[in-house]
Amino acid sequence: MTQHTIKQIADLLAGGKTSSVELCQDYLARIAAHNPTLNAFITVDAERTLAEARAADQVRAAGRAGPLTGVPIAHKDIFCAEGWLTTCGSRMLHNFVSPYDAHVISQYKAAGMPCLGKTNMDEFAMGSSNETSWYGPVKNPWDIARVPGGSSGGSAACVAAGLAPAATGTDTGGSIRQPAALCGITGIKPTYGVVSRYGMIAFASSLDQGGPMARTAEDCALLLNVMAGFDPRDSTSLERDKEDYARDLAKPLDGLRIGLPREFFGEGLTGATAKAVQDAIEQFRKLGATTVEVSLPNSGLSVAAYYVIAPAEASSNLSRFDGVRYGYRTPEYADLTDMYEKTRAEGFGAEVKRRIMIGTYVLSHGYYDAYYIQAQKLRRLIAQDFAEAYKQCDVILGPTAPTTAFKIGEKTDDPVQMYLSDIYTIAVNLAGLPGMSLPCGFDGQGLPIGLQLIGDYFSEARMLNVAHQYQLATDWHRKSPDL
Ligand code: GLN
Repeated sequence: MTQHTIKQIADLLAGGKTSSVELCQDYLARIAAHNPTLNAFITVDAERTLAEARAADQVRAAGRAGPLTGVPIAHKDIFCAEGWLTTCGSRMLHNFVSPYDAHVISQYKAAGMPCLGKTNMDEFAMGSSNETSWYGPVKNPWDIARVPGGSSGGSAACVAAGLAPAATGTDTGGSIRQPAALCGITGIKPTYGVVSRYGMIAFASSLDQGGPMARTAEDCALLLNVMAGFDPRDSTSLERDKEDYARDLAKPLDGLRIGLPREFFGEGLTGATAKAVQDAIEQFRKLGATTVEVSLPNSGLSVAAYYVIAPAEASSNLSRFDGVRYGYRTPEYADLTDMYEKTRAEGFGAEVKRRIMIGTYVLSHGYYDAYYIQAQKLRRLIAQDFAEAYKQCDVILGPTAPTTAFKIGEKTDDPVQMYLSDIYTIAVNLAGLPGMSLPCGFDGQGLPIGLQLIGDYFSEARMLNVAHQYQLATDWHRKSPDL
């Protein structure tokens, strides 16, 4: 049961073959058995989960079930969930029990989906390996000596390991797609503004976007149907008609034009990843697609632009953590300034401090024009590159990450190497476009490889269709690690 897709689970529930309580018990037992090794969850609360499952079973018994009523899901610990400890992977929030639900959480609650627990993540979503978490690194279920990717590494690991059928993630520069790739699952970051950021702890507000992580594109479509939607409490939430993201899944791919960016297929792309992506391209040709070379000439500058803009926004967003209203407060201090200083020195980890310092620097008088404004100009150029490319193609394809999962500790001393993990994903956030990752093969060590699809604004249904058709023709997404 614990390797089932959301779709299969929903069918079993609808057919009366299982109950939400039974399902949650199975997953909780698996979490109890494997989480001590994987460290994918920060908080598990079986009583709370089972209470939600019982309520879902009652809704079904009363004949009021929706398509996913009773299907359990895990939530990244960046989403505030009422009554749950919500830490964002930081000591700063180690004692913060949220008094309210994020919009995403209330959407899943309204759909009747019990929460299996809160998943581990890089501190304040800053990282690509889950090693910056105050709660310790998450282990990749394919090889526990390796990272699961980040920052949504706990979510990716728990789905890959069958500790949850699906999980939520957030993606500021690649944090849904890169861990999905490194753990061999499917994840989508929607167009900026499609999923409300209300109650999603802010890292870089103009880039942050929530999305689902699951085994298949079909599951992601069903989950996005729950998660997406206008929310007046987020000023960047887009007021659009509700859409069914699963509506195009069955469409054949004849005539699909796939853009292959020259910059994604250069010298950086080697070995098993290059081969797996080439094989996927062949598969799409067999499915009726044509390919065209496109160019994203400014994409090489995306990591540089991101590491000005994201820290700038983070330095502002994280100023709220001052020990006064909630979260960690240093136990001993002389006066207010001393309290602020000690609280922030002790509450934040090294990577978060690095970002706050960079951000404060690039926003300061005299440097703002040289760094922040320049980065914003680059951001515009990067978005224009994509607009040009979409004149020639419907979807862009490439690798999700330059390498498969690396060893825990391998990149911790070299932040720039770590930042390069997102070289193929970051431009998508800067442009606000939708992007997804799906499994497309394994390397010589049996580690999963991710394929990235990047769509034009609001083309999620089309991307999910493209991914679903690929998954009907391949079985990479069906492989699970031995635990
Ligand atoms: N790895 C990138 C960073 O550290 C992206 C993280 C994310 O998408 N949240 O900022």
